[in-house]
Amino acid sequence: MSRSVIVVGGGASGLSAAIAAADKGAYVTLLERLPRVGKKILLTGNGRCNLGNRDTAFSHYHGTLPQAARILSGFDPVRFFRQFGLLTRTDAEGRIYPMSGTAASVLDALRFAAAQRGVRMLCEKQVTAVSPKGNRWQVTAGDDHFTADAVIFAAGGSAAPNCGTDGNLLPMLRKMGYTVTEPKPALCPVLTDPAMVRALKGLRVRAAVSAIRGGKILKTESGEVQFTDQALSGICVFNLSRLAAQHGSSMELSLDLLPDLPADETAALLHELLGLRGDLPAGELLTGLFPKRIGEMLLRKAGGNLNENASEISEDTKKALHTLLHDLRFPVKGAASFSQAQVTAGGIAGQCVGKHLESKLHKGIWFCGELLDLDGDCGGFNLTWCWASGFIAGSMSAES
Ligand SMILES: Cc1cc2nc3c(=O)[nH]c(=O)nc-3n(C[C@H](O)[C@H](O)[C@H](O)COP(=O)(O)OP(=O)(O)OC[C@H]3O[C@@H](n4cnc5c(N)ncnc54)[C@H](O)[C@@H]3O)c2cc1C
Repeated sequence: MSRSVIVVGGGASGLSAAIAAADKGAYVTLLERLPRVGKKILLTGNGRCNLGNRDTAFSHYHGTLPQAARILSGFDPVRFFRQFGLLTRTDAEGRIYPMSGTAASVLDALRFAAAQRGVRMLCEKQVTAVSPKGNRWQVTAGDDHFTADAVIFAAGGSAAPNCGTDGNLLPMLRKMGYTVTEPKPALCPVLTDPAMVRALKGLRVRAAVSAIRGGKILKTESGEVQFTDQALSGICVFNLSRLAAQHGSSMELSLDLLPDLPADETAALLHELLGLRGDLPAGELLTGLFPKRIGEMLLRKAGGNLNENASEISEDTKKALHTLLHDLRFPVKGAASFSQAQVTAGGIAGQCVGKHLESKLHKGIWFCGELLDLDGDCGGFNLTWCWASGFIAGSMSAES
């Protein structure tokens, strides 16, 4: 007789798990609290769904789940989607997208694959309790009770709560004995002193951004930085946000605004600009390099006066400008909220699950996706983890 499997959560990892379990012959029921499955998938990659990355280095992942390295190393998102008739294309940076250019194709491919394999998908079923029943499990969703040989928890993290993900199952799982690494927002803007960024709102600048704590560089990321009225944003900042959530105001961000220019050539560049623009207002000195408001902010911060001519800038101001161009500091006031975050850092700790993501505490319970304490950098790494972990949890739960 085939095994029965209940999947809790119809997101990326839950759909992958349901398909994999059904492929192994299991009778699969997927319970989703929202009216439709896959709401978050539709939002990914600005609606284009960055579903994977050519770069497979495990260093793109963070958390307490070393067993994930093995699961990820045997997984190829391109091949995974090809089996459902969904082709992909890879951009110059190695990010993988559906060939159609739309996330809806990804969700449709998963929905069709699940339906073709006989997965029963029940929406508006919010799971509130799971308890043993003989050697099976009973899952409660409102007035409904379901029993199965195995239960896969794929309920996601706490990021983007408008997608049904708010950590609602964590209190129950804690009560069942699971260790939960405190969930924190990740891949989100980093909050700073609003007085420092308000005037720059809406501007973008290319920079190498370093997270600095106690005088030590923790991590550097390069790319486009965007300024909002109280935060720094952009993919490179997103990749530093889990550190901001962890270290809060003991951390600073440093922007190198001329990362490709060696520090010893900066003085020569400033000299050249002073020669070419000496008769212009000082605020115009850097407008050949940056948007005007950024040039003016740098000059003011360096002690310069916007009303004087560039040729009147003092030696002290020039020296300060030189420093600021390579090390413009912003105090950190933490990471933005879960509603602005793409993923969750934290979740069910790696020590609670085995190498195939089965529970070490309860036979017949499995975990996958963002609910586990593993989060990836921006660039398709998080979805890769969801497909891969769902696939392993689904296949193994159906076989055990
Ligand atoms: C705006 C945005 C853009 C993103 N872009 C990308 C990208 O381009 N590439 C990338 O790799 N990653 C991206 N991510 C991250 C990625 O989408 C997530 O890591 C991934 O979707 C998590 O999948 P999951 O299956 O773990 O959980 P989710 O997809 O969050 O699904 C969990 C599901 O469980 C349901 N659920 C929760 N509790 C219950 C319950 N008690 N009972 C029943 N159902 C329940 C929820 O309603 C939800 O449908 C993005 C995230 C956001 C928010």
